[in-house]
Amino acid sequence: MDYEAVIGLEVHAQLLTDSKAFCKCSARFGGEQNQQVCPICMGMPGVLPVMNAKAVDFAIKMGIATNCEISARSIMARKNYFYPDLPKGYQISQYEEPLCKNGFVEIKIDDQMKKIRLNRIHLEEDAGKSIHAEEYVDANETLIDLNRCGVPLVEIVSEPDISSPREAYLYLSHLRQILQYLEICDGNLEEGSLRCDANVSIKPVGTKKLGVSTELKNMNSFHGIEKALEFEINRQKKIVAAGGNVQKQTLLWDAANGIAAPMRSKELAHDYRYFPDPDLVPIDVDQNWIDRIKARMPELPSARKARLINQYNLPDYAADVLTGSKTFADFFEECLTHISNAKLVSNLMLGAMLRVLNEKKIDFNRMPVQPKNFAQLVELIINNTINESIAKTVFEKMVDSGQPAAAIVQESGLSQVSDNAHIEALICDILETNPAELKKYRAGKTKLFGFFMGQVMKASRGKANPKIVEDILKRKLDTF
Ligand code: ADP
Ligand code: ZN
Ligand code: MG
Repeated sequence: MDYEAVIGLEVHAQLLTDSKAFCKCSARFGGEQNQQVCPICMGMPGVLPVMNAKAVDFAIKMGIATNCEISARSIMARKNYFYPDLPKGYQISQYEEPLCKNGFVEIKIDDQMKKIRLNRIHLEEDAGKSIHAEEYVDANETLIDLNRCGVPLVEIVSEPDISSPREAYLYLSHLRQILQYLEICDGNLEEGSLRCDANVSIKPVGTKKLGVSTELKNMNSFHGIEKALEFEINRQKKIVAAGGNVQKQTLLWDAANGIAAPMRSKELAHDYRYFPDPDLVPIDVDQNWIDRIKARMPELPSARKARLINQYNLPDYAADVLTGSKTFADFFEECLTHISNAKLVSNLMLGAMLRVLNEKKIDFNRMPVQPKNFAQLVELIINNTINESIAKTVFEKMVDSGQPAAAIVQESGLSQVSDNAHIEALICDILETNPAELKKYRAGKTKLFGFFMGQVMKASRGKANPKIVEDILKRKLDTF
């Protein structure tokens, strides 16, 4: 029998508020340990938490962007458990009445749109961090940093509508894209501002009844999530093929070894005893509040993509990549305030820029070249100073040195060669040194045109004006 996977994701996103969820402490990442704390977020007895209205705003924004119903009244609840980085002994979360319910997002898989339903989005607070790093502690010792205690989170819970590790990847990328467009979370999996637990089960293809699911934790990259799901789906298939039953359990992904191993079972015995937090009033959201947020909603990824296609006449693929992250799309449009050739800017961003950043392993957001300088590079192509392939070399030097494009072209002698006589001489040379290819070409193998084109461009070290090369080469090859 063939089995198929069923996946539901629980995604935690840290909200980019200035202060924490229930106190005035800074919510910024990376401060010195235990310096962003107060009696409230350290969980001292008798203190009173007060809800951060901005955090509610942000969660409502996410709810609207993902087609959720916004609850008129939602309740903060205590989720009780002991953990050293949770000094109160409970986490403030939402349980029976989440802020947002019954939404959906759409992902594109195999050129088709697929709806992934959201069960809920609720507000909660983060816990602190245990530190085991050798630079701080001896073996068997643990330090606690409470800076993260009380940082606001939204938890986004999907229905089990995801059918493959690839879909899980696309869904999570899309959520991250929305969070970033809304500017409510920076979406950094590596730093933990976005975290994902994956629930997965298998069932015979085409049947309805869901199988017993396991939960995967501890994945801190998109790649890790895909790999962990592949591993776990295979593990479950093997169990069932051997006549066994999948056990309900939580597994920890071990990226270094590419395996998922069960957590110690005593950490699994959850009995959270949720109850409404008596210190916090219900969150009442009236239509005015929702309308106020709707009026200030930024353009979302799918709308922006559609607009780029219309406004700049870009192909679907280009608009897709350009809007993949908000900062990338912003860069593109900022360039177009300096220069009007959208097609060329897009080609160069998707080509030269991404290739160079990839080769140098530089994150786009940390790239030093500003849109204005990039527009100057494009300008050099438009006025025929350089060609598109040299542009990559120039861009690389711009990233390295921070110098403007024109200065680099001058200094490195990268200007395009448009001198007909010079190009003609190069071509004659190439034809002479490749008599066999020349014969074949003239005998009808015209595909070899590309070969000659390449040879000439190479001989000019990429600097010849390709249009001129093409014209002269055609003439030379076809007249004999
Ligand atoms: P649980 O009771 O196991 O915590 P929930 O109903 O609270 O399950 O759902 C938690 C997450 O697990 C959701 O994202 C949901 O889509 C997913 N999920 C629930 N059942 C299954 C299943 N049988 N297979 C895969 N995922 C599931
Ligand atoms: Zn505090
Ligand atoms: Mg649950």
